[in-house]
Amino acid sequence: MKNIDCPCDNKVKNTPLKYEECCQQLHLGKEVALHPEQLMRSRYSAYFFALGQYIHDTQHQDFRGNTTPEEFTQSAKATRWCRLEVISSSQQSASGLVEFKASFIDKDKLHTLHEVSNFIFENGYWLYTDGQFQPKTSQKINRNQPCPCGSGLKAKRCCL
Ligand SMILES: [Zn+2]
Ligand SMILES: [Zn+2]
Repeated sequence: MKNIDCPCDNKVKNTPLKYEECCQQLHLGKEVALHPEQLMRSRYSAYFFALGQYIHDTQHQDFRGNTTPEEFTQSAKATRWCRLEVISSSQQSASGLVEFKASFIDKDKLHTLHEVSNFIFENGYWLYTDGQFQPKTSQKINRNQPCPCGSGLKAKRCCL
């Protein structure tokens, strides 16, 4: 698992970063996110690997309700995350916005969530608070088309 490309789709000069040199550093607590986009990407990767504790800890406590780390893990495990696309991001001194599309596969369909997430900087950490959501879109995946995850493989040999 360590040597795979990071699910967050972070690229340097068009080359995807490996998980161990990208979001894993944050997931292990060895680094902290330096800006909202980095936190957002690491949260997507945490959903991809079903790391409920990280998902829990990186959302501001006033916004996550009573959801436990275990509940975040279970809901992440129930979803086959496929692709992240960051559209734009911005930050002021202590707040930030990231607009993105996150896609997952259910049966033969690709479902895409479109969200603008809000972040705040508090006590030295960027934290997710909440987001504005666009209506979810869905499209059927042709088994012979290139997989939406971007692997270059046909969908039937990859995520489908
Ligand atoms: Zn990453
Ligand atoms: Zn795939």
